[in-house]
Amino acid sequence: MLTQSVPTSNPGGFDTLNLISPIRRAVSEEKYTQPTPIQTEAIPHLLEGRDLLGCAQTGTGKTAAFALPILQRLAEYKDKPRPKEVRSLILTPTRELALQIEESFRVYGRYLKFNQTVVFGGVNPKAQIRALSRGVDILVATPGRLLDLFNQGCLRMDKVDVFVLDEADQMLDMGFLPDVKKIFNAIPETRQTVLFSATLPAEIVRLTHKFLNDPIKVSVAPPASTVDKVDQRIMFVDRENKSALLESILEDESVYRVLVFTRTKHGANRVAKNLSKKRIRTEAIHGNKSQSARMQALNKFRSGHVRVLVATDVASRGLDVDGITHVINYELPKEAESYVHRIGRTARAGATGIALSFCDAEERGYLRGIERTINQSVTVDKDHAYHSDAIASKSSHRSGGNGNRGRRGAGAGAGRRNSNGFSAKSGSRRSSQRTNPSAPGGYAKKTRSFHAKPRSSR
Ligand code: AMP
Repeated sequence: MLTQSVPTSNPGGFDTLNLISPIRRAVSEEKYTQPTPIQTEAIPHLLEGRDLLGCAQTGTGKTAAFALPILQRLAEYKDKPRPKEVRSLILTPTRELALQIEESFRVYGRYLKFNQTVVFGGVNPKAQIRALSRGVDILVATPGRLLDLFNQGCLRMDKVDVFVLDEADQMLDMGFLPDVKKIFNAIPETRQTVLFSATLPAEIVRLTHKFLNDPIKVSVAPPASTVDKVDQRIMFVDRENKSALLESILEDESVYRVLVFTRTKHGANRVAKNLSKKRIRTEAIHGNKSQSARMQALNKFRSGHVRVLVATDVASRGLDVDGITHVINYELPKEAESYVHRIGRTARAGATGIALSFCDAEERGYLRGIERTINQSVTVDKDHAYHSDAIASKSSHRSGGNGNRGRRGAGAGAGRRNSNGFSAKSGSRRSSQRTNPSAPGGYAKKTRSFHAKPRSSR
């Protein structure tokens, strides 16, 4: 049976969470003044050693929610792990997430001396095998490579004391479930288990019943609530005009760190090539690129060397880049959940952001699915030269013109936020009316400046 944790506010900040001083110091150097709701909820239970089912997605601060208690638990060990031994194991679906989580452990654990490493596929395993041979306190891994290395005898899982299964629903989508079950069976029965999932399909609930021991359930606002922080616009445009519309938007320099999503790898390459031809610094990232090419592209984007990153949905989860001003859905995703994840890339850690979605005649069905999922209709922006009345008229939408009008079905002020701007737990889908003139490249102010001008060649 699941015990549902009751959400509490935490006016005392991190000091009330009983964390040891090396951890508190690292957190305060990160300028985290208030724990996020998932941290307030989860950390006390995890410090008590409880199993936990967390319903939260990336962007809510869930990494620290599990990493801080793990670091504290590891600090109680008096000895170092033996060769090949793993003390805490964090399983996550993608390489990007694995790298991010490992980096977070480094940051939060900088005043504690732990051995840690990360393993994932697509790269030569030699360095990973070497790191594992010494024994590790913290191992962050993707399932396939972990099992490969385990089957080759490069690590032991019989001393795993804490196991975190992150993004369990994505593991399911990616067909990792059989691997995950093998891993559950390879770790000791007495361990602390933490499972995070943005949604709870039946298979995940079954997994929870089978492998978690009397877990406490903690949830923060469901994924769709991310949309509250994002200023969303839909732009009806014929498919052949999408490229020109994108270029016209990018004429505005305040649109300066832009994540563009396509549905296919081929599409991502094509968009990136077109923009590069126009001398707009662009990189593409998708599943066909090697791990090192993906990392390079991401680093260039993070450091500001490239302005536009074109990505398929492989990058929509977990990608943590500060200051993304705009997410542009060049193509709408088939799955409404992906839309939520995509636009969430511009609303990290309580920040706000802008999401522009291009919708052609074929994509109206996807748009309807998205609006059902987020429980609101997205304001139409027809204030651009490529607006298609024909497509718009077949969708019953309210036009947003050039301002931040309220969204249909919006209820002002719904939803509780803590001082971080993170939305607090909610059992139902919420929507709120919001204007965002102060966001980077604030849409209200900038709309006019990226009106598309029909080009003379057209
Ligand atoms: P995560 O959901 O773990 O991917 O975290 C999303 C972002 O929130 C990361 O950039 C973290 O550095 C940031 N973050 C995590 N906890 C806090 C906090 N208590 N206050 C402010 N930012 C935070």
